Amino acid sequence: MAIIGAGVMGCSLAFYLASAGRRVVVVDRGRIGQGATAACAGGVRAQFSTEINIRIGMEAKRLLANFSQATGQTADFRQVGYLFLLSTSEERERFHEAAQLQRRLGVTDVRELSPLEARAIVPGLETGDLAGATFCPSDGLAGPNDVTYGFATAARRLGTVILEDTTVDGFLDDGAAVSGVRSAAGELLATDTVICAGPWAAAVGARRGLALPIEPSRRQVFTTDPFAGIRRDNPMTIDFHTSFYFHPEGEGVLFGMGDNSVPAGDDITLDWSFLDRIIAVAQRRWPPLLDARVKTGWAGLYENTPDFQPLIGPLQPGLWIAGGFSGHGFMMAPVIGRWLAEWMLKGAPPVDLGAFAPDRFAAGALQPERNVV
Ligand SMILES: Cc1cc2nc3c(=O)[nH]c(=O)nc-3n(C[C@H](O)[C@H](O)[C@H](O)COP(=O)(O)OP(=O)(O)OC[C@H]3O[C@@H](n4cnc5c(N)ncnc54)[C@H](O)[C@@H]3O)c2cc1C
Repeated sequence: MAIIGAGVMGCSLAFYLASAGRRVVVVDRGRIGQGATAACAGGVRAQFSTEINIRIGMEAKRLLANFSQATGQTADFRQVGYLFLLSTSEERERFHEAAQLQRRLGVTDVRELSPLEARAIVPGLETGDLAGATFCPSDGLAGPNDVTYGFATAARRLGTVILEDTTVDGFLDDGAAVSGVRSAAGELLATDTVICAGPWAAAVGARRGLALPIEPSRRQVFTTDPFAGIRRDNPMTIDFHTSFYFHPEGEGVLFGMGDNSVPAGDDITLDWSFLDRIIAVAQRRWPPLLDARVKTGWAGLYENTPDFQPLIGPLQPGLWIAGGFSGHGFMMAPVIGRWLAEWMLKGAPPVDLGAFAPDRFAAGALQPERNVV
């Protein structure tokens, strides 16, 4: 089996296929985990609005908590929680409905909080204008590098070959199905080929004449020098209205924010002027950040679809996709790798993944995710 892309998704899938005894080749035009995965903030949560994403979040927490038993590697999983700050009564109502669904599905620890209760969890928050908050203490953070290399190392131990610095530039076809890939290392024959090319999935699919609705979109993140003004167990804190977020990172803080003015495209030039816009929001929401010294920043790519849900499943005979995670692919990868491997090996996924059907846009059967950051 061939996997195009050695990000967290490709490495997770390789591990689960190899665990079932399959021979797997992963081909990446760069290095392991250096695509979208390298830019990731590491958040893992079950606080979603759709049933399927809540179930994935719950399963992701379970798999990450047991990661070292499964792979022999650490995931650096810290269950410090996720705190969503809600500015309007409409947002509070929306998160109330989502919390009810989460509880029904078994997320027993999700809580709806008053602004003052949120402030007690994150000292220094300005909460006077907030309508409410939600908090789930078992959500948290894991290490993107740890998880990706953990899967890659364990997959290699099981015989998987990972070819780095090797671009895939076409597909092989035996007349009935896709039968492998054409790469800088030559032709690689495979019974099944999976596109796990992250923000570049549409470009890869185009080589097979496919128009995959996945668009890259730049996101920027900054980190600070060691900063005593944040506790190490501070939750991932998200000001939902502005999408400003922060969490402890090493001895400092990692923070970022979405930017709707950025056009789609794979340019990852860091725009330092954006820092001023984030700081202006931080000044209103979490002023202690202004006392920290910004150390560095980077830009990475989200891989957005029109309904912010991924494309998972078969595209053509012999060709599959796992992509378009719309900014949630790190936490989804352990679960989707496991479920997709089962689908490929047994002919059906262990849970209904219809919400992620690659052809759903033509069919008009959408279940959009609303709790997108
Ligand atoms: C700033 C930022 C913060 C984020 N925070 C979070 C978060 O907190 N939680 C979360 O769950 N997600 C988060 N995400 C999203 C997450 O990082 C991605 O969804 C996830 O990493 C996607 O993994 P992937 O393996 O599908 O893609 P990638 O990591 O991009 O891997 C795809 C690989 O395909 C390779 N490739 C592309 N074209 C070819 C080709 N032609 N031939 C061979 N190889 C090719 C690339 O080199 C790349 O290595 C964040 C993303 C960004 C940018």
